Amino acid sequence: MSLASVSPMPHKLSLRPVTVVALLLSCAPFAHAQQSQTGPPTQLRKMKDNIYVIENAVTNLENIRKYGGNVLVYLTPDGVILVDCKFEPMHDDIVSKVKSLTDKAIKYVILTHNHADHAGGAAKMAASGATVIISTDDLENLARAPNQTWLPEVSYSQRAQLRLGGKAVELNEVRGHTRGDTLVYFPAERVVESGDLFATVEELPYIVDYSSGGNWTDLSKEIDELLKLDFDVVVPGHGPPVTRQEVVKIRDRVVAIRERFRALNREKKSPEEIRDTLLKEFHWGGEPAPASIPGMIQELR
Ligand SMILES: [Zn+2]
Repeated sequence: MSLASVSPMPHKLSLRPVTVVALLLSCAPFAHAQQSQTGPPTQLRKMKDNIYVIENAVTNLENIRKYGGNVLVYLTPDGVILVDCKFEPMHDDIVSKVKSLTDKAIKYVILTHNHADHAGGAAKMAASGATVIISTDDLENLARAPNQTWLPEVSYSQRAQLRLGGKAVELNEVRGHTRGDTLVYFPAERVVESGDLFATVEELPYIVDYSSGGNWTDLSKEIDELLKLDFDVVVPGHGPPVTRQEVVKIRDRVVAIRERFRALNREKKSPEEIRDTLLKEFHWGGEPAPASIPGMIQELR
């Protein structure tokens, strides 16, 4: 998701997660007197013997804004490949989670796209010795961002392959959420990290970033491209992993929301009427979706 285009959350939405987090924190000293939680509330999820995901312990919009998206950790005999790296203040937490798995260095960081909740920590990763890779299209998106003083060293267009420690990782550039999204495919493990094509968080709607060249027509095509890969499980940019069958359902839902939006737009409904209808019918249209509705009105005629 794009944090830059996100407007403040409605009070109702923010209340519940804050209360839950506060409760967890206040109970922590009693439940775990020996190991008090001082770092951010993230945890490791094991996907395969050599693939882990650093995920937010509580996955909601509040925590996405504070702690960013999923980080995939790929362990090889010659070093570690990360996919995405959250915001810069999360750097030490990511490094310590990786260190709990291996003593090898982080050699590469592949960015699924240019948004700060995925790419914000990249400069610090590069300063620590990793090579950062992004698609050329999203490199241009990064370069246009205000106050961007650093850019990844390596960019690619359409397809690239990365080899480390006898393992191969495939990078496929697709357009949808932004104009240069990268699907990161681990063929030997039958796993894909898909960035923000979709989130699997209940309260996080599908969104595209028009200012980064994304659009809804390409979004479903992008999921079709993902489905062409031979995988068992997809790690999204936010939320828990999903199976191929679940990805098919998500693709169908993206198409259904898009076409319902188009129909309402052709009926000349107002942005508020469109949002209210889609909220009722699809539970789509909560934050941060409203910011992209004007772009959708232009696109989906
Ligand atoms: Zn994003």
